[in-house]
Amino acid sequence: MALNLKSIGEKVGPFTKEYKQKDAILYALGVGAGFRDLEYCYEKNLKVLPSFSIASIFDTMAKFAIKARVNLAGILHGEQDLIFHNPIPPEGTLTTNGQIDNIYDKGKDKGALVIGKSDTFHSNGKKLFTSIFSLFCRLDGGFSGEKSLKTEFEFPKRKPDFIVEDKPLTGQPLLYRLSGDIFPLHADPKFAKASGFEKPIMHGLCTHGFACRALLSQLIPSEPEKAIRMKCRFSNTLYPGVPIKTLIWKIEKGKAVWKTINQETGEEIITNGLFEYGDIPKDEILFDDRVAVITGAGTGLGRTYALELAKRGAKIVVNDYGGAFDGSGKGSSSPAQMVVDEIKKTGGQAVANYDNVASPEGGKNIIKTALDAFGTIDILINNAGILRDKSIVKMEPEQWQSVLNVHLSGSYNVTRPAFKIMKEKGYGRIIMTTSAAGLYGNFGQTNYSAAKLALVGLMNSLKLEGLKYDIKVNTVAPLAASRMTEGVMPTEIFEKSKPEYVMPMVLYLCSELCPVTGNIYNAGMGFFNRAAVCTGSGALVKGKDGIANAEDIAHRIKQISSLKKAKEYFQLNDQVMDLIKNV
Ligand code: NAD
Repeated sequence: MALNLKSIGEKVGPFTKEYKQKDAILYALGVGAGFRDLEYCYEKNLKVLPSFSIASIFDTMAKFAIKARVNLAGILHGEQDLIFHNPIPPEGTLTTNGQIDNIYDKGKDKGALVIGKSDTFHSNGKKLFTSIFSLFCRLDGGFSGEKSLKTEFEFPKRKPDFIVEDKPLTGQPLLYRLSGDIFPLHADPKFAKASGFEKPIMHGLCTHGFACRALLSQLIPSEPEKAIRMKCRFSNTLYPGVPIKTLIWKIEKGKAVWKTINQETGEEIITNGLFEYGDIPKDEILFDDRVAVITGAGTGLGRTYALELAKRGAKIVVNDYGGAFDGSGKGSSSPAQMVVDEIKKTGGQAVANYDNVASPEGGKNIIKTALDAFGTIDILINNAGILRDKSIVKMEPEQWQSVLNVHLSGSYNVTRPAFKIMKEKGYGRIIMTTSAAGLYGNFGQTNYSAAKLALVGLMNSLKLEGLKYDIKVNTVAPLAASRMTEGVMPTEIFEKSKPEYVMPMVLYLCSELCPVTGNIYNAGMGFFNRAAVCTGSGALVKGKDGIANAEDIAHRIKQISSLKKAKEYFQLNDQVMDLIKNV
């Protein structure tokens, strides 16, 4: 069967897997841990070996192979790169999402390489590790595909800084296979013979676990949480019971290279090893490879979001029409361009867009800018805004409409084309920007308040449309010093309200970590709280003939208005079901 080259770029997963303390301990025993490294084997203060990561999601690799339609009889684990974002808790549920990054052709008699990448999250919401691996598919070469680039790797000429000797048990694979890889090659002597081996062989990932223990023992003893990255190439098979040694060279602070060899033959079993370790804050929220579009990012809050997202690795589309705070003027490219220059100066990636969010064409073009420059969109912050304050009698239709056009229609115009891409890729984070004026009211701002609260309605329904696709839609009500609030806010508050105080909430809601959708947060001066629409428990009011009249309402208004035991509903159906239940 021919390889499925169309699978390149396709999603694999999500896969979920529950694991208990016992699984983490069984794995540790399977890779040779014992009283020497009791912290991985004893439930009291149990720590989990970082290499448990790949063992725990081992079966997902087969799903990549099936998707790429490789000949399963010919696959071998080629290279494995693990990037650890947070320590692995002793138990929980893992969710893994991946994609096939590429399929290379090594030639007809040499085989093909399938490159896969996946991210695994824990049920506590934290991203635990990224796995990048290659499957060497011996029987699938010669499809005239792209050739893989050769990677250079050199070990230092000097003697290793550390040598860790170990000796897997003759029955080691029988213990290791209980962690999930039950392929008969590692247990069944007949099967092993038929496959050309004297007897069952060690699992490559079992030797990998021995190597991981060796690295930890010399570089970060009893501190597996300091492991940052473990990369290697599987190069030879090993029989159980044969002694091994792991050679380790420290090459710079927090970085070592390593290999594991067969002590009897000197053969490299695992080579080209890299190990990174140190005190990197593991909870750091990063946006590497994420593409963010921020409207109205030439000044104020939007600019602050753009700078921080870029600093944390996102590629940014800085949109700004460049008009005055009330939307007047011809527009100008300089605010957006200045923010792009600022991002580039610090090594970030950004492009400018000067479209007006108030038109559907403008919205489409903003998203097209992201696609042309970076190929996708992951994050959209609907932030562009103007003010045209007047009390209602003085408010002309033009003042009313222009504010609705920018805030409400503007958010629709940009969200619609962005949502299409997010839905296709199965990931997205969207932020709406509301205001306390809309949530609670503000004299002289009926246009602005109406537009801003309408965005909450937009979010409420959009969150439901995004649920299936991991598209989270949340709303922020900022309070910040900007040209919009200059002269409106008391000077004392203005000076203490840098946009930087709002930014962390927006960044969190834009991150992979964000567990919520459909929430509204107030954010300003470092204070954050959630606002919500709550519904009181109400009263069933029946008149004489069963239907209440106005007088009955007057009589019961206190109970009807009460917010005692108020509830928050996630969607219309929940509220209607409650109503029906009450009736
Ligand atoms: P700001 O005026 O500094 O930023 C708004 C940006 O949007 C400007 O750069 C402007 O050029 C751009 N813009 C306006 N119309 C546009 C359009 N049609 N197309 C593209 N870009 C356009 O103001 P800010 O305070 O940073 O406001 C950001 C958002 O936060 C706004 O939606 C605002 O309503 C909201 N908000 C701000 C506060 C606050 O205290 N600053 C309070 C509540 C809500």
